[in-house]
Amino acid sequence: MPKLLHALIVEDSEADTELLRHELMRAGYDPVCERVETADAMGAALDRQDWDIVISDYSMPRFNGLEALRLVQQRKLDIPFIIVSGTIGEDRAVAAMKAGAHDYILKDNLKRLVPAITRELKEAQVRLERRQEGERVQFLAYYDLLTHLPNRLRFLEQLEQIIADTRKTGQTAALLLLDLNHFREINETLGHDNGDALLRQAAEHLLPLLRRSDMAARLGGDDFALLLYPGDAQYADGIARRALETLTAPFEVAGFSLEVGAKIGIALFPEHGASAKQLLQHAGVALSLAKQGANACCVYDARHDPSDPRRLQLMSDLRTAIGSSQIAPHFQPKVCMRSGHLIGVEALVRWQHPERGAVPPDEFIPLAEKTGMIGPLTLYMLEKSLQACHEWHMQGLKIPVAVNLSVKDLLDETLVDKVEALLAGRDMKADMLELEITETAIMGDPMRALEVLTGLSDLGIHLYIDDFGTGYSSLGYLKKLPVDAVKIDRSFVNDMTRNDDSATIVRSTIDLAHNLNLKVTAEGVENQATWDRLAQYGCDEAQGYHIGRPMPGETIPGWVGGNSWKPR
Ligand code: C2E
Ligand code: CA
Ligand code: CA
Repeated sequence: MPKLLHALIVEDSEADTELLRHELMRAGYDPVCERVETADAMGAALDRQDWDIVISDYSMPRFNGLEALRLVQQRKLDIPFIIVSGTIGEDRAVAAMKAGAHDYILKDNLKRLVPAITRELKEAQVRLERRQEGERVQFLAYYDLLTHLPNRLRFLEQLEQIIADTRKTGQTAALLLLDLNHFREINETLGHDNGDALLRQAAEHLLPLLRRSDMAARLGGDDFALLLYPGDAQYADGIARRALETLTAPFEVAGFSLEVGAKIGIALFPEHGASAKQLLQHAGVALSLAKQGANACCVYDARHDPSDPRRLQLMSDLRTAIGSSQIAPHFQPKVCMRSGHLIGVEALVRWQHPERGAVPPDEFIPLAEKTGMIGPLTLYMLEKSLQACHEWHMQGLKIPVAVNLSVKDLLDETLVDKVEALLAGRDMKADMLELEITETAIMGDPMRALEVLTGLSDLGIHLYIDDFGTGYSSLGYLKKLPVDAVKIDRSFVNDMTRNDDSATIVRSTIDLAHNLNLKVTAEGVENQATWDRLAQYGCDEAQGYHIGRPMPGETIPGWVGGNSWKPR
């Protein structure tokens, strides 16, 4: 069968074109020829369609072979270009070949034409395959085959490029690391094919959020990264929100509708690191913070970075501070919403650092948990709280005190004995001590939590689930635990008069808890409007700045005396 050949003939003579066509047909080609004799016509023909070959005369009245060659080269087209001419001398022929023509044939020696064409077509094919192979190698090296997103290598190169770029432009950039929730479980339960499908969908969800100058990459496993350039904290936050939103919307996988969700860590350039490596590392620190805490998205903060030197200093300072007067509890009142009685106080640790001043608990509690200092700290808080409780008692005030337990305290096998000994040491009844345990601490190791909480409850201590609503436990599960009450997290309470979703969470938590015979404390009550709404929902107890701020133990009797909230 004749081989189809799209030949562009640059030639002023109709007759010569016919001759060429004839030659091609004789050699077994089925030529589709177009003749052009000006630069404009040739440019248009090149732009309109693909050509297998260009056969060009050398000199024509309005055009010439070298200009024709330039038009092909300008378009970066790799088409065999053969000059067929009657007038050309040897030095011109050499010049034409040097300029990039593939061959040069004399009109009176046309039998050379076909072998030249065949050879050039074959070589062009080889070049094409090499190019495609190169592109493939390039693709394999720089892209992720599953999602077709850039891979880690490409991402790092881009990040470095941008960092170099910002030195000239002075612009800022943001790096977001993103980790899908439950990916491993999904992969294991539904199989790797479905895991792959999920990753592809995740990539498809992320891409539309980005501008042309941004980049999404898959770094490996279920780790994705977004590079926003230019980008600042606010822009990054907006994109993170939208990413969380789109990844929380159900995914269709294997006929299931899966709610996946994600965690995001953000590092900003240049604020959080000067090199690609450091930015990536810091975004990773922020991501692990997001994985631990209540916020699905965290921005890097050196204070939470285990490798930050200031933090290391703080850690060693904390060691000496525990047991000294630098650390002491403050106490925040809790009142009964129906009677207005003071029904207890929560002990909140305060650290007055000799050089830094007050260090907030949210900064050093996680530190203490990581370094094993939380045990001594909790013990110290228990001692100091019971001591304060004892002193109030001596002044005729019976005020139970609630101490916060950390997730690490639940792992201490001797905790129950220690608490029992402390109570016995002061000859105090167990109902003067309450303990608060966060929902996430319990869910970390539910079996262990059940054991410890049962031990504490058996002593007669009342137990609260703290920060309720920020974890993933169901109230039904919590019912199996020997707890007496839940504290609704202050983020919902704070928000409930402005945000209907928060109000709904507060209200349904109160209803559910009551159905399970649990009392409900609302923390973070900051104003009368919130109080009124909580009262309307039937909330039992309230705590917050509206009632009283955390204060030193000595201040409590005065506060009680000068206040409408009375102890029972
Ligand atoms: P938490 O247990 O949820 O404690 C309540 C936090 O809310 C306290 O912050 C308190 O000062 C604050 N707060 C009280 N009322 C209001 C209000 O009306 N509005 C607002 N915006 N906030 C209010 P603080 O003292 O900074 O403690 C933060 C967290 O640190 C505590 O959260 C608790 O998880 C942890 N923590 C504090 N003391 C201890 C402790 O002795 N041991 C352990 N393990 N953790 C502690
Ligand atoms: Ca608490
Ligand atoms: Ca709380």
